[in-house]
Amino acid sequence: MAGSANGAADTIECDLLVIGSGGGALTAAVTARKAGLDVVVVEKQPVFGGTTATSGGMLWIPGNRHSAALQERLGETDTLDNARKYIIEEAGNYADIDRIDAYLKYGPEMIAFLEDNSHVRFDAAEYPDYNMDHPNAAKVRSLIAREYNAGKLGKHLRELKSELPQMLFFGFAIGSSVEMKQFFRAGRSPKAFAAVAGKMARHVVDTALHGAPRRVVRGRALITRLAQTLFELKVPILLSSPARELIVTDGGVRGAVVDTPNGARRILARRGVVLGSGGFPHDDKRRQQAYPANAYDGVRRSVANPGNTGDGARLAEQAGGVFSKEVSNAGAWMPTSVRPDVAGPAGVWPHLVDRLKPGFIAVGADARRFGNESAAYSAFVPMMLEAGAKQPMAFAWLIGDKRAVDKWGIGRVRPKPMPRRGFIRSGYLIEAPTLADLARKIGLDPEQLQQTVMRFNADARRGVDSEFNRGANAYDAYQGDDDYDGPNLCLGPLEKGPFYAIKMFPGEIGTFAGIRTDRYARVVREDGSPLDGLYAVGNDQLNVFGGAYPGAGATLGPGLTFGYVAARHAAGLIGEEAR
Ligand SMILES: Cc1cc2nc3c(=O)[nH]c(=O)nc-3n(C[C@H](O)[C@H](O)[C@H](O)COP(=O)(O)OP(=O)(O)OC[C@H]3O[C@@H](n4cnc5c(N)ncnc54)[C@H](O)[C@@H]3O)c2cc1C
Repeated sequence: MAGSANGAADTIECDLLVIGSGGGALTAAVTARKAGLDVVVVEKQPVFGGTTATSGGMLWIPGNRHSAALQERLGETDTLDNARKYIIEEAGNYADIDRIDAYLKYGPEMIAFLEDNSHVRFDAAEYPDYNMDHPNAAKVRSLIAREYNAGKLGKHLRELKSELPQMLFFGFAIGSSVEMKQFFRAGRSPKAFAAVAGKMARHVVDTALHGAPRRVVRGRALITRLAQTLFELKVPILLSSPARELIVTDGGVRGAVVDTPNGARRILARRGVVLGSGGFPHDDKRRQQAYPANAYDGVRRSVANPGNTGDGARLAEQAGGVFSKEVSNAGAWMPTSVRPDVAGPAGVWPHLVDRLKPGFIAVGADARRFGNESAAYSAFVPMMLEAGAKQPMAFAWLIGDKRAVDKWGIGRVRPKPMPRRGFIRSGYLIEAPTLADLARKIGLDPEQLQQTVMRFNADARRGVDSEFNRGANAYDAYQGDDDYDGPNLCLGPLEKGPFYAIKMFPGEIGTFAGIRTDRYARVVREDGSPLDGLYAVGNDQLNVFGGAYPGAGATLGPGLTFGYVAARHAAGLIGEEAR
């Protein structure tokens, strides 16, 4: 970074300006710096990390070196061609073959590059793809970011975005699905209890010594590792510095005007600008434009970073780029419930666990089940939207019996022995001694709800869901209850009261509609020609899977891949006209 050649105080010069500090943006910054470019990162919020910092830190990257090694150990076979067929069919009418091929080519390369050139490390995760009914789906394509010591950030530690408070257990961030299973088992298994007790003890010591735990996991570990690399490479991350408008000259993008705490700055970027501002989950106008009518009623039930207000799309349009809704799903959907007593994203709960376990069902306004509750979140919300097609705002009731709620909790309500009275008092959790009473409390037909549960219970006892085939494939089974002694790990009858209900709505963890780009992540015009000097990565970019969600890590996988691609292109290392 250098001062302006003409000495004007309000100008900063660099090779590449990166807007945003999530996974896509920081990967672009590391890649560009390692290619010898002078890089500046600007972040709108006073902390860096975006939604990525509060994410599960999983990346779906077929063909990556860790998954290949694990597949070999497990005796699984997979090929890039299999993954390609799977993606193309999942994307359906929205498949953009050129970009899909770029993703498959550069994804594994990006993983190797980051691990060889930065502090970023991944481990393979055994995590079935989200549509295991597809013949080309596989069980081992996802990676998870390895935990890290955030103390290494030194003075920058206080600038690291915090975890979502509702996802912590007494301040402890759960680091993997294996660890999560230990927590759920701790009340029943001495071995799991010992493991959890050890972790909590280390957490208490860590917190007591440092004021806040230094162990960071998942998405926060990924961001810490990327940022630590950047700080060592002397790349500045300017905080509280939103990019306001692009500087466009001679038909090309040459920088941006950024509002820093010290006033507006013109940041001139010789090789271009990377938009990585995280899509539009908190842009009301864009939501209205892109979401199905019954997915948004003016209330944002989003767990995505509040700073993601569609700035990237607005800036791209300013330069001649196109915001496109050509995807099957405009949002990276997540069924969510909202605590009436907690404002903002901290009050929103993503239903990642309860819904999929034995002893829970979901019903619509007609008190009937409408789909497979054990389906991935990305598939479950479209079922909610379809079931609630005639409602102004789609919703579903998640219902569980005492045994299930004691074991798994429900929504933000933790398992036994954690208290639940406060949630009942606030109206978040509805409790009733019988199903008929529960139905009356939540405005459903009591007769119908009892019939629905009776039929489901009969199916659960046989282990076969005659309505929606729940628990029949490897994804469902993976999400079920390993310790369950019934014939199907996902199906458990709802038998003993009290019964509980929580209202779920369509929400999201990110957005899929976005800026149209080419295989090098260049923003393109309406006619498909690339704009010189403007790239879009992460959720700013129109989703490469056409709005489908093929497996765990399907937003960060492409997000980081195209961050890598954009930077390599800007550095002249790839592209038709590689300099
Ligand atoms: C609980 C949870 C778990 C998740 N788990 C996973 C997972 O395991 N795997 C997966 O693939 N996905 C997961 N997701 C989704 C994933 O986190 C997001 O899709 C992803 O992080 C988006 O990355 P990004 O780089 O596009 O944007 P972000 O990480 O959101 O970063 C964008 C940044 O840009 C900043 N910004 C916005 N406007 C401006 C501006 N004008 N100027 C400067 N900066 C600006 C924002 O403040 C923000 O910091 C999860 C999400 C949640 C909430």
